[in-house]
Amino acid sequence: MNWQKILDDIKEQIQPELGVGKVADYIPALSKVDPQAFGMAVNTMAGECFKTGDADLPFSIQSISKVFTLTIALGFENEGLFDRVGREPSGSAFNSIVQLEHEQGIPRNPFINAGAIVVTDTIITHCGEKSTANLILEFARNLSGSSRVHIDDDVARSEALWGNRNRSLAYFMKSFGVLKNDPEDVLQAYFCQCSLEMTCEELARSGSYLANDGVDPVSGKQVATHPHVNRINALMMTCGHYDMSGDFAFHVGLPGKSGVGGGILAIVPGICTVAVWSPALNRAGNSHAGTLALKLFSEKTNLNLF
Ligand code: GLU
Repeated sequence: MNWQKILDDIKEQIQPELGVGKVADYIPALSKVDPQAFGMAVNTMAGECFKTGDADLPFSIQSISKVFTLTIALGFENEGLFDRVGREPSGSAFNSIVQLEHEQGIPRNPFINAGAIVVTDTIITHCGEKSTANLILEFARNLSGSSRVHIDDDVARSEALWGNRNRSLAYFMKSFGVLKNDPEDVLQAYFCQCSLEMTCEELARSGSYLANDGVDPVSGKQVATHPHVNRINALMMTCGHYDMSGDFAFHVGLPGKSGVGGGILAIVPGICTVAVWSPALNRAGNSHAGTLALKLFSEKTNLNLF
């Protein structure tokens, strides 16, 4: 496969779509990003990286961090994790509170905000509130092989300052006994994980274990068990794109997770990982150009799982 040509062709074809949609503006720190930015990287199981556009520019990975925290929490709790968080698509916005009351404070899945807050709560139970943000940061650094990966303090402060919706979700779940730790500690760690900054190259490299049965193809380290990787990929396929997860599966046919920073991580089991970034978002909060770029990728490579 001529990965470089495929990426360069996608970059050229996607030009008219750049800037279509709206950059996330729920916090000032994210609203300043250039809506025209576009980067894409492919990391193969042989450890080769191919990239195009702004693939070396760091961006806020936001909800893509939910894949890392789910991996860590499954390592601690195994299937027991699913006593407190479901595994069904929500069909609601990523920060919705409505389903929580009907379902006794148990979030639909680990990739909506409420679910991710429960997952982070689980990590705190095992590691303590002081170490959790750092554990997540080190996890991302080790996987990406890059010590440059960091938590953007400005974004984290902004998340905390404007985080009333997430705060409501956390306290609401606490009232049902679903959260075990102090909601403020859980939120602090959650805001930090959302504020991780990575490039497309680093992100594609970090996700490699998900395409390789849980083993990091470069270090040979077992990051997650084979059954856990199956679970994570299934959740990425069914719940990774908020209430447009069905649409993403329909057009792209790969497990993927998006974030409101405009990034998407997609997994092609046994073959490669793909990270794409373009900050302008569609109505569900997924990168508009990023989604189209992955659609082109699956068409050009025929790597759609179906
Ligand atoms: N920091 C965002 C929030 O919690 C993350 C949302 C996302 O990327 O889906 O609202």
